[in-house]
Amino acid sequence: MAVENIVIVGGGLAGATAAKTLRTEGFGGPVVLLAGERHHPYLRPPLSKEYLLGKAGDDALPVVPEGWYAENGVELRLGVSATQLDPAARTVSLADGSRLGYASLLLATGARPRSIPLPGGNLDGVSSFRTVEDSRRLRARFAEGGRNIVMIGSGWIGMELAAAASSYGNAVTLLGLAEVPLAAAIGPELGSFFRSLHEAHGVRFRLPASAAEVRGRSGRVTGVLTDAGEVLDADLVVVAVGVVPEVALAEAAGIGLRNGILTDAALRTAAPGIFAAGDVANALHPFIGEHHRSEHWSNALNGGKVAAKAMLGQDAVLDTVPYFYTDQFDVSMEYSGFPSLVSGPPVVRGSLEAQEFVAFWQRDGRVVAGMSVNWPRSAKPQKVIKALIASKSPVAPETLADPDVPLDQLLPAA
Ligand SMILES: Cc1cc2nc3c(=O)[nH]c(=O)nc-3n(C[C@H](O)[C@H](O)[C@H](O)COP(=O)(O)OP(=O)(O)OC[C@H]3O[C@@H](n4cnc5c(N)ncnc54)[C@H](O)[C@@H]3O)c2cc1C
Repeated sequence: MAVENIVIVGGGLAGATAAKTLRTEGFGGPVVLLAGERHHPYLRPPLSKEYLLGKAGDDALPVVPEGWYAENGVELRLGVSATQLDPAARTVSLADGSRLGYASLLLATGARPRSIPLPGGNLDGVSSFRTVEDSRRLRARFAEGGRNIVMIGSGWIGMELAAAASSYGNAVTLLGLAEVPLAAAIGPELGSFFRSLHEAHGVRFRLPASAAEVRGRSGRVTGVLTDAGEVLDADLVVVAVGVVPEVALAEAAGIGLRNGILTDAALRTAAPGIFAAGDVANALHPFIGEHHRSEHWSNALNGGKVAAKAMLGQDAVLDTVPYFYTDQFDVSMEYSGFPSLVSGPPVVRGSLEAQEFVAFWQRDGRVVAGMSVNWPRSAKPQKVIKALIASKSPVAPETLADPDVPLDQLLPAA
């Protein structure tokens, strides 16, 4: 297919990776990257971890060095949003009033924090969390120490922010709707592991509980009233109750949506020449034969690569095993697999008490997901877990748990 010019909407990890891949795959035509934010495309994972903790600086954030775009002839337009898409005319309108034609277009518009109707939610000191500005602002407040901080939301971001806030010497209380934090992602057994980790560092939980109202004085937050009638003192409140895919452009253009933008495994939407990747894409995953929308770093990275190759007419599909990681206090966790396939509790090798273990989840005797916590990297636990999942070979739970069987010997003989 002859591609004349490519427009990428969204300057996050997926969009910037797609631009880079177009060039590494030898595409020499015009590429415009529309970045709604005023920053060069940056990585978000450090924002709630090492960047927030002051252990990493601005140099840890760029997806590619800032000079890369000009050096590689990619027209990066910072602070310029796409406002309208016309799939029939193959044009996209921009907030500055201009319009661009395209041969292929990638929607990499990501996701935005879910907002909840909360009386008092607009008081000073109440915020959500997604951007580098959010991280800088909270870093300054957390670093003051000695504050009462309430996190609303017991998912990954809420838990990471709670860990960071607590590490700075603040008193943190976390509210969540589930009985166990992170249970929807990793089940009650491992969710309880993370709860205990936080409690050992002084984080308090109110579960299940929701915020009924944020209270304040002179326009500033002073507390949170829970649905149980308890008032929690608060100098800061962070609402971290998940994200919603940023589908406005696609929706107005009549592109098929269901929990994000629907695509095939090559990240093509039903509209000619339009692709979607990253947090916004709900892509058909060949391994499970169903659509799968992931809100993780590796999906944006791999999706950006696949979309770029597919836009160039190459035979590319997004078929990697989903992967993500988190760092909380002294725990480094990595996870690969398909939570939707998990049936039953995990099989554990190692020790939860010692905070060093690998957990495997199975279905019909096959490994469908696995998590490693503080496990020696030299044993390459994630590589083994991904290979086990891809092999679809049955493994006895006793073998998975047996410390005398080296991890790589769990794999079927080649
Ligand atoms: C604080 C935080 C911590 C995280 N930690 C982890 C982690 O530890 N591990 C992990 O695996 N994942 C983590 N993630 C998730 C990971 O960062 C996301 O999956 C990834 O950023 C998705 O990349 P994306 O390019 O799809 O979307 P985004 O990063 O959301 O980028 C999309 C960009 O498009 C822009 N945009 C939207 N609409 C338009 C428009 N109309 N015109 C122009 N631009 C537009 C947006 O402003 C945004 O800049 C974390 C996310 C956050 C927020």
